[in-house]
Amino acid sequence: MIRTAEQYVESLNDGRVIYLNGEKIPDITKHPSFRGPINARAMSYILYYHPEFKDLLTVEEDGDRFLFLWKQPKTSEDLVKRRDLYITCMRWGAAMSGMGPDALAASGVVAARMDKNLGTNYTEAIEDYRKHLKEKDPAITGAITDVKGNRGMRPSAQEQHQDFYVRVVDRQKDGIYVRGAKMHISATPTANELIVSPCRGHREEDKDYAVVFATPINAKGITLLTSPPYYSETGEEAEWNWPASGRYAGVSECMIVFDDVFVPWNRVFMCGEWQYSRDQAWMFGVFHRLFGTCHKVISTEEAAGVAALMAEYNGLDRYPHIQEKLAWLAMHAQMVDAMSRAGCEIPDYFEDIGLAAPNLMYTNIAKYIFANDQHETSKIVADITGGIASTVFSYKDWMNPEERPYIEKYLAGKNGVPTEHRLRAVRLAKDLIGHGHDGAFIHTEGSLAAQKMAMYAAADWDRYKAIAKRIAGIPGWKESETLKDLPDWPTEMIVK
Ligand SMILES: Cc1cc2nc3c(=O)[nH]c(=O)nc-3n(C[C@H](O)[C@H](O)[C@H](O)COP(=O)(O)OP(=O)(O)OC[C@H]3O[C@@H](n4cnc5c(N)ncnc54)[C@H](O)[C@@H]3O)c2cc1C
Repeated sequence: MIRTAEQYVESLNDGRVIYLNGEKIPDITKHPSFRGPINARAMSYILYYHPEFKDLLTVEEDGDRFLFLWKQPKTSEDLVKRRDLYITCMRWGAAMSGMGPDALAASGVVAARMDKNLGTNYTEAIEDYRKHLKEKDPAITGAITDVKGNRGMRPSAQEQHQDFYVRVVDRQKDGIYVRGAKMHISATPTANELIVSPCRGHREEDKDYAVVFATPINAKGITLLTSPPYYSETGEEAEWNWPASGRYAGVSECMIVFDDVFVPWNRVFMCGEWQYSRDQAWMFGVFHRLFGTCHKVISTEEAAGVAALMAEYNGLDRYPHIQEKLAWLAMHAQMVDAMSRAGCEIPDYFEDIGLAAPNLMYTNIAKYIFANDQHETSKIVADITGGIASTVFSYKDWMNPEERPYIEKYLAGKNGVPTEHRLRAVRLAKDLIGHGHDGAFIHTEGSLAAQKMAMYAAADWDRYKAIAKRIAGIPGWKESETLKDLPDWPTEMIVK
């Protein structure tokens, strides 16, 4: 079944234990800090019914319609469709959390492998969970990153306590009890259920930490501590000030504490098989990095777009150094897209279990490129936009009739471009590059091009040229003041 957006929102008032800024929140659907993320996720439920996207996002089998992501990928077509689905939702501003579906897909691969090699039957539990997902249509997320404590020590070797990584503390006939905490888990407030899995490989002594399971978020013993939202603005003000992230701004990441939470066996997908923890972590990594590349296909295009707009609005687009930087942004966006697509079109096939996953090499290249070059991207956007990316006025200034005429007049750019458009583009640049030092330090004390011009002017070109001439055997280098006392470039050979 596919729920409606309204049914989804209602389901979040489920008695969960959740805190924000030191306060216990009785019903997140009524709290302004949760409104943006809930609306973003509800948007994906609206898309399920959209005539144009229904068949991409959902599938019908045996008369029942459910989310495509509940199916285990077996072919490159499945992966290409998965990528299209994520990108489509993101372009619409619909939050389709990838963490849960990616953890499900990873668990499907690893469970099949364990069952084949060890004779376990975790695939049965996964299939039972899929049936539940298809029937009840919960929103799920994935909790992988543990709080970790001392990073230099393995889970069972931690000294202060044994709960820095989620572990099994008791095994009973009907299920297991788990304890520990996961950190930075996105889309938790807006989810109904969680898939929990290890973030690292284990040795035999860590076998209690080799545990994968699914649980409702309102299960007894689960407490959610949310990270505070980035912005205090809401509504139109948030959208104007932060065009890319303001519309749905609010609380997303949580620390999830598991205080001896009970998980029935039909929701346990690994329990003690320490040799397969690494597989689980890597498999989640590759599925989830595909999701990350989908985000970045969009945000790298946004960065190239806003830099090109600012170049145009500031009358800079004909200058070679600006065109070079724009070309880099376009190259970067296309490379991320191409490697992400290649990861799906040329997947890793696991012949022994008949399943497929995004290509480990290509998908990791795509993720590495965008993460490693994030600062270069921000640098170029800040460079082209100018210092105003740091000092731009806010929505409230723009709406104030006493300030507006000054802003209108003095912050105009190229003739024909309304000042408001230039301001809106600047606000987008500021949103994309970060709000602090990333933008400011590029331009305080002058732009990068200004330093390059000064360095070019200050460089001792005669000396550099004389050095080259001396080595290349071109006469004239002795005219250089600093080189004139040097002998000719030696031509004598001792060993003949
Ligand atoms: C906004 C945001 C959203 C996120 N969403 C999710 C989510 O939905 N689900 C989820 O599971 N996780 C999520 N994460 C967590 C993310 O995957 C982790 O932040 C990331 O894996 C790094 O882990 P860490 O933050 O614990 O840093 P650390 O592990 O402390 O890493 C810090 C540095 O220490 C190094 N280091 C750590 N351990 C070792 C070691 N043993 N040996 C050598 N070097 C080491 C690392 O390489 C790195 O350079 C999110 C993170 C952020 C910031």
